[in-house]
Parts: sequence; structure tokens; C-alpha cells
Amino acid sequence: MARYRDSVCRLCRREGTKLFLKGDRCFSEKCAIERRAYPPGMHGQGRVRFSDYGVQLREKQKVKRMYGLLEKQFKKTFVRAASMKGRSGENLLVLLERRLDNVIFRMGYATSRAEARQLVKHGHFQVDGKKVKSPSLLVKPGMSVSLREKSQKVQRVIGALETLEGRSVPQWLEMDKDEKVGTVKQLPVREDITLPIDEQLIVELYSR
Ligand code: SF4
Repeated sequence: MARYRDSVCRLCRREGTKLFLKGDRCFSEKCAIERRAYPPGMHGQGRVRFSDYGVQLREKQKVKRMYGLLEKQFKKTFVRAASMKGRSGENLLVLLERRLDNVIFRMGYATSRAEARQLVKHGHFQVDGKKVKSPSLLVKPGMSVSLREKSQKVQRVIGALETLEGRSVPQWLEMDKDEKVGTVKQLPVREDITLPIDEQLIVELYSR
């Protein structure tokens, strides 16, 4: 799969908001948004006025980058959300939240979604006792997400769990930090997603 290889802090600066892509650094004064809160590039500090289309596009790019998806995957997720009952925008966010890489990040096993995705791909986790390697797996209520026996000593996970206090676990999930077992209590609802997102703009963009 293609991957974005440039500095991820540039993405935050482009979107003008913290996307929390770099783990603990995002909570420190080293965060690029704290130091240079303007878009990257030669004309970054100039005045930019967006058209309606530009505003919708930036919102879509922001959410896509937040969850670490590429365009094709994101569009596919939107198509699925639009085919479900209810509001397409809310469905989209719920589907994104239910992805295994996001759940692992939310449970505190990793300090960023990118790190969570890498840990899943390296086979460190099991869902309901079975090894998984797919970051896009959608979790369901009652599922358990745990670290595999042979991965109990992975330093990155131990370090992330140690700093979990600074990052709260959402109420639709439960985490037993000592046993290293997380449980999906229920499906997330829109109110559980406290990120600054206007999902209606994404619906409008894809409805053009
Ligand atoms: Fe974004 Fe984190 Fe970089 Fe700050 S440190 S600009 S929040 S990725």
C-alpha cells in the first residue's frame, strides 16, 4: 500500500489544527503547530481565502489524515457509510472509530494511530483470542483486544500504557492496563467522538 513519507507535522500545519500524529510529541512544546501555526511552504504565511469547495476539501483531508487513511480507503469507507441507515456523516465517523488501529490507539496500547497500525501489522495483537494483522478490521461490542503472549514485553506498548493517564479511554471502550486486555463495551456514537470535525462538509463534498 502507498504511504505518506514526508513530515507528518506538515499535515497538521496544512490543516491548521493538531491531528495528533506523533504520539507524546504532540502534547509537548516541540509540537510544530505550537511553534509555527501557519501552512508549510513559501506562501504559508500569506492570507488564504477558501471557496466552499476548498472548505469541504480541507475538512475531508483533515479527517482522512487524522485516521491515517489514503483517498481510496477513505472514499470506500464513505460509500459504505452512505449505504447504511442514518446520517452518512455520523456513520462515517463511527466506521472510522471502529477500525482496529484506532481502537488500539484509543485503548492506550499506542501513542498514535500510525504506531497502532504498525503494531497490528507486526502481529502483536489478538482479537477474541485470535491473532489479527488487519488494521482495518471493524470491532463489534463484546470483542476483546489483547496483546499476544509473545508480545507482552514490547517496549513501545509498555511505554504507551505507562503514559495512558494523560490520554483518556473513551467510555465505549474499557481497558485493563495491568492485564493488557481491552474490551469493546458498545458501538461508539457521535457524542463519543470529541474531535473538532464537521462531517457534514465531507458529505457535501462527496455529493457534488
Ligand atoms: Fe501534529 Fe503532533 Fe506534529 Fe504537533 S507534534 S504538528 S500535533 S503531528
